[in-house]
Amino acid sequence: MSMKLTATIWRACLSFLLCLLLGYLPVQASETKELTKLAEILTLSDNNNAEALRQLEAFKQALPADTSYAVRIETLKTLVSLYYDAGKIKSSDAAVAELLQLAEEHGDKDGVAIARIAASYKAIDDGKMDLAFRQLQQVRDSVQNNQNPEVQMRLHSALGSAYYVIADFEPSLKHYLEALHFAEQLPKRRIENTLRRLDSVAKLYTVMKDPEKSMATIHQALSLAPQAHLPKTLASLSISEGIALSTLGRDDEALVAYQRALKIGIDAGLPNTEVYALINIADHYLIKKDFIKAEQYSRLAMARAEQTDDVRSIAIGKVNLGFALGGQGKIAPAVELINAVIKELKASDAKADAEGVIGELANMYERAGMYKEALATLRQQQSLSDELFRSDRAKAVTMMQEQFNAKQREKQIELLAKENALKDADIRNRRLQLIISLLAATITVLAGVFILLLYHRVRKTNLQLQEVNSQLAFHAVRDPLTGLYNRRSFVDLMNVRTTQAEIERRAQGENNPDCLILMDIDHFKQINDTWGHVAGDSVLKEIAVRLKNAVRDTDMVLRWGGEEFLVYSPQSNPAQVSSLVERVLRAIGEVPVTVGDVQIPVTVTAGFVTLPFSDVPENVCGWEKALQIADMALYLGKAHGRNRAYGIARLLAPYEQVMPVLERDLSAAINAGMVALIEVQGPARE
Ligand code: GH3
Ligand code: MG
Ligand code: MG
Repeated sequence: MSMKLTATIWRACLSFLLCLLLGYLPVQASETKELTKLAEILTLSDNNNAEALRQLEAFKQALPADTSYAVRIETLKTLVSLYYDAGKIKSSDAAVAELLQLAEEHGDKDGVAIARIAASYKAIDDGKMDLAFRQLQQVRDSVQNNQNPEVQMRLHSALGSAYYVIADFEPSLKHYLEALHFAEQLPKRRIENTLRRLDSVAKLYTVMKDPEKSMATIHQALSLAPQAHLPKTLASLSISEGIALSTLGRDDEALVAYQRALKIGIDAGLPNTEVYALINIADHYLIKKDFIKAEQYSRLAMARAEQTDDVRSIAIGKVNLGFALGGQGKIAPAVELINAVIKELKASDAKADAEGVIGELANMYERAGMYKEALATLRQQQSLSDELFRSDRAKAVTMMQEQFNAKQREKQIELLAKENALKDADIRNRRLQLIISLLAATITVLAGVFILLLYHRVRKTNLQLQEVNSQLAFHAVRDPLTGLYNRRSFVDLMNVRTTQAEIERRAQGENNPDCLILMDIDHFKQINDTWGHVAGDSVLKEIAVRLKNAVRDTDMVLRWGGEEFLVYSPQSNPAQVSSLVERVLRAIGEVPVTVGDVQIPVTVTAGFVTLPFSDVPENVCGWEKALQIADMALYLGKAHGRNRAYGIARLLAPYEQVMPVLERDLSAAINAGMVALIEVQGPARE
């Protein structure tokens, strides 16, 4: 809620740094006396800055015209430092300008660098950060190969301060640590410089919200402090410690540290230190809401600051006083004080500071319940904030922002790269998926082809099966050897025929019975035995052909058994049956069967009947019984010398009377005159 000193650290740095210079310049015998005097003044400044400054001003006035460059430049450097500590900023700036001119005239590169670094503090102080960074960058470029630890230390300290002001703490810390590194390499005033760098680092840690590290750094510095009596440094470290403690919420201990710094400042005649200590004590009471004490210390700080020309410290004192009054409900005088500071800050182009103060003012209004004013103030802050973006300082911030953006872009690129990697992986996955899909498709197609092939094969197999089946069907009705109908096909035919034939016959009113001629080859065993079984087969085939040629197309020739044949001649004229039988016998026996080179004489014996048998209805005497009678007739033929046929033309007695005799003994039935027998002779044997 108040202005702390932390924003003005760089000042304390500069004054101390400038004190270093005495130790490093080449010293000639004639200069020894003057340089010794300057060293004494510098040492005095550690304890009593005001007294040292008085002596230094007098020393400078007394220098003769032919004073050496070394003495003159050291005088100026010391002067810059002591003016700074005295809060005489304008005098310090003037000394810096003089220093730069002198160094340039003498072609002293290190001197020029140091003067320029000092000048950059003025730009920082004026809030011209863009200019400050440009100046420091120029110095940096010019001292790139410069191994002078003093120059490097001062450069890094200034850079640390510049980054600190624009609140870019990471590079600030980096440069402060670099400065510390070079401080430790200094041949003279090493401890003083090391302590000062540690002090900067400690303050930085606090604003980086790491007060523990800050405390540790301060303790490290204090462990070195006993080696040198350095009140200025010790006071600064005490203030740093106080700020760290305050940040840690250890406000009472913080107050002790500020009071120690105040005492050192007073004792050593260090008005700046005094002012800083008082400002921080006032701040402590503002935090504690002890507005009476805050007012008291703010007034003390202002009174002391007004003895210097340190505008900024005066402004901070006024602001703190304003808030102390505001805390007590004295809004009108508070606002008056604060607005005056804001006006001053704006006039000196310290817009960032002005903006901060305006923000605090808005908070104060809000706490006092003056919301209308709070809102108006916030708007004022906003417009200033917008304006700041166009200011030099904002440019520097923008520059930093660009660096930040560059980092962000780097990160984005990194993220993009990662994303691309992911995309690549994704693409790879997709490709794999595609391959898998293609494989799946290929497999499907192959499977399809395979299935198709299988189908074709199955179809082919089916066709083959069909063929086999049809062959089987053929063979079921046909005899494989001769191609004639077999016994089974005749049975099937007869089963259908029985009813069908009767109906048809009755419809036609005719009496044309079917004729059945059963045959058996004579002495076929001998044929097999004489010419072989294969020849026997050939004979069977030839007999089949001859039988088929001998009968009508409507007649049916069957292979009844091994060497037995049947001719089924439907609706045959009974008068012509004998000639049919004779034709059949002749067809077989008239011409021997030629098998290869041999002539095989073949005859058959046959028995034949009609169906219906002798006008007996078929349901009484069916085809089976008729065939049985034919077979008996055939057997009679065999008995009577073969190569002949016997037919039972008709019954001469009633069926019921004849059949018992006939079935038992055909010859007896014939002899009893129960049947009319027809005999047909086969062809005469050669
Ligand atoms: P029979 O005059 O009394 O009929 O004398 P057979 O030698 O013919 O006597 P049978 O009828 O008892 O003998 C039939 C013979 O026919 C027996 C068998 O070896 C033969 N046979 C039957 N089927 C076949 C066949 O398909 N091929 C051949 N080569 N021989 C067969
Ligand atoms: Mg036989
Ligand atoms: Mg036979």
